[in-house]
Formats: sequence, C-alpha cells, structure tokens
Amino acid sequence: MTTLSHLECSLCQKRFEAGIAHNLCECGGPLLVRYHLDKARENWNREWLGRAPATMWRYAPVLPVSRPEKIVSLGEGYTPLVRTRRLGARLGADQLWVKDEGLNPTGSFKARGLSCAVSMAAELGLTKLAIPSAGNAASAMAAYAAAAGIEAHIFMPRDVPSSNYIECKAFGAKVTLVDGLISDCAKIVNDRKQEEGWFDVSTLKEPYRIEGKKTMGYEVAEQFQWQLPGVIFYPTGGGVGLIGMWKAFEEMETLGWITAKRPKMIAVQVEGCQPVVRAFEQGTPRSEFWQNAHTVASGLRVPKPLGDFLVLNAVRDSGGCAIAVSDEELLDAGIQLAAEEGMFVAPEGAACIAALEKLLASGFLKPDEKIVIYNTGSGLKYLEAYSTRFPRVSGGEQDKLGGLITPR
Ligand SMILES: *Cc1c(COP(=O)(O)O)cnc(C)c1O
Ligand SMILES: [Zn+2]
Repeated sequence: MTTLSHLECSLCQKRFEAGIAHNLCECGGPLLVRYHLDKARENWNREWLGRAPATMWRYAPVLPVSRPEKIVSLGEGYTPLVRTRRLGARLGADQLWVKDEGLNPTGSFKARGLSCAVSMAAELGLTKLAIPSAGNAASAMAAYAAAAGIEAHIFMPRDVPSSNYIECKAFGAKVTLVDGLISDCAKIVNDRKQEEGWFDVSTLKEPYRIEGKKTMGYEVAEQFQWQLPGVIFYPTGGGVGLIGMWKAFEEMETLGWITAKRPKMIAVQVEGCQPVVRAFEQGTPRSEFWQNAHTVASGLRVPKPLGDFLVLNAVRDSGGCAIAVSDEELLDAGIQLAAEEGMFVAPEGAACIAALEKLLASGFLKPDEKIVIYNTGSGLKYLEAYSTRFPRVSGGEQDKLGGLITPR
C-alpha cells in the first residue's frame, strides 16, 4: 500500500506530519506530498501493473491513502492515449497523440484530483468540504463527496457552463453562484470556512488533489512503455496537472522506472487570461493577477495561479514554453479535430491543438517530435460555447437537406 512519508512546503521546505489535515504552509507555500520512494523501489515492481486496477489507483504505493477501504473511486484515470494520424498529417506532426481525459467520471480530469482529495478527507475524518471552482472541479467534488457521504459546499462563477451547475445540483451539493471569477469564489471560501467548519479544497491549498492529477504522468509513461514523449501540451489554469506530472517524472526517475530525460512542457493559455504566458515571456518567477479574465475555456479562467512559480520552473527546466491562443482559434481547432478524429474535446484541450499549430509554424517544434496533447475534458460539457458555431436553423435552411425539414 502507500509509501507516504510526510508533506513538505514547496517554498521553505518546512516538514509537516502526515495523518492530519493541512492547507498551506504559514509562509504561503503549497505543500507537496513525499513518499519513501526507496522502499517503493524495493517492494514495488512496475511489471505488476498488469494485475493492477484499471483506474489511477493502480499507482496506490505513490498515492497518499493508507486505508484502502477509504478510497472513493468512480473509475477515474487509465484513460486512452489516442494516435491522431489525420490531425498530425494536416498539421505536420508525424507522431501525435491525444490523451483523452474527457472519458473520466464527470467528464474531466478533475476527477483524478478530487478522487484523491475526497478519499483523504474520508480517511482524515473531515465531514464538510468547500471548494471555489471555475466549473469542472466543482462537478468532480460534488460527485465524489456524494459517493463518500460528505457535505460539499460549492462556489462558482454565475456564468459557469450549465453542465457544471446542473451536475453539482444533481449530486446534492450546496451550490452558491458568485457574480465574479474563481478568485472571488476563493475569497468567500477563505473568509467563511472557519465559522462554517469547512475544509478548504481549493487548488493547491489542499495537498492531495495534485497527487491524483500526477497519475497522468505515470500513465503516459506506462502507455509508452516507460519512454516519455518529447513534448507535452497542457492547458494551464491553476497548472496543477502540469506540476503534478513534473513531480511524477521525478518520482519515477527515483523509482528507476524512467531516465532523466524530460518532455518539453508546453503551458497553453488563452488570450483573455494568460498570466503564466506573460510571466514566461518577461522572465519573472511569478505571475501577476490578470485583469478582466474572459474565455469560453472556463477551466483556463484563473487570473492568478497559486502555484505559478512551480509551473514556470517546470516549463523553463524542461526547455518548453508558454503560449496563448484566441477563443476563435480554439473553437475552430476543436471542431476540426472532432470532424477529423471523432473526438469532441473541451475548449481547453482544443486550445492545445491551436497552440501546436503555432509552434510547428514558428519552428519551435519539429515534425518528427513525439507529441502528446492532454485533452482535459469532454466537449459535451461545453454545449453553450460550441453552440455559437452551430445555430440550429437559420431562415434559408428551412425545407432543405442539412437544414430543417417538416414532414407532410
Ligand atoms: C481545471 C481545468 C483545466 C486547468 O487545469 P489545471 O491543472 O488547474 O491547470 C484545464 N482543462 C479543464 C477542462 C479543466 O477543467
Ligand atoms: Zn513554507
């Protein structure tokens, strides 16, 4: 089972004991979970994964839950890695894959993080969880909290996709809509949690969501027979998936499962909210709050990621870059991908395809590189965004094939 050792501040390295609930370090740094990887190396063989469950819990020795009966699982992770030849041929990328996280419970990779966080909440005896969310994290938390029989208090922007709102309500969560952004939601949770007795499950303020998300890194290695790809595109909001994968690579190297070679990490953002891209271009270690953040890719509408420095470090150390695309470009890319490959992806995943096109055109990437794009969610969760491209009928399409026909 788990080889959990302790938690460690990512800023000041202060050590925190496992087995009790933690949020941030006093210095404001997010906590990272550490394992006895030496023990794991001796007692766990990657060949055994053949018999492990077909969920992210196949990597249980490097996940934090100590009592397996506390695991709250709805079948998250172990998602397909799809070779997209047609898309690759059109863009000039000879070896292109899409890791399809849209197949997770609640239709996004947030299921990985919340499966882990809610399992730990159950193990630590927490009974009231609160989360500020741009949308999909709320859906995932509501689902796992329902499965665990724990209260979920959700704060999300009032213009969140209706899939997220309806899912949360259906899962029985207490939902409050906020006339603002995720940053405003976070402030409300922070101001009220003490009085209400909520545990704050905000991105990176809660240390175990990142552990769930890091399994995306273990999986891509396993699916490629322990040879990492050359390039990874990741749609970056809070950046937790990217930070998590980077952590997974380090752990796997310590386990002796992979070499020191790392993929170029490409952080993809949108023109309407690109704090990480701006910081990358200006060479600063941290980002600045992005004013008036707006985009249809709601998961990327994070004006000031708490873990910006961790994202920027990983991107820089990997020789990758940060790049933004417009909402027009990402919707075009999403629709083209759907028609070419039969995959209907979230706008966030589509943003990566638009970014790939740019980086091939600029020569930053070469046609023969092995490239993986993370599609973090299903297009079905974003019907409002995509429906702007497909109005049901317009006047001239009455009584025409491909338009609207009235049977006589
Ligand atoms: C939350 C979310 C993101 C951003 O994830 P981070 O790991 O926080 O950067 C990207 N895509 C979708 C669909 C999301 O829900
Ligand atoms: Zn600290």
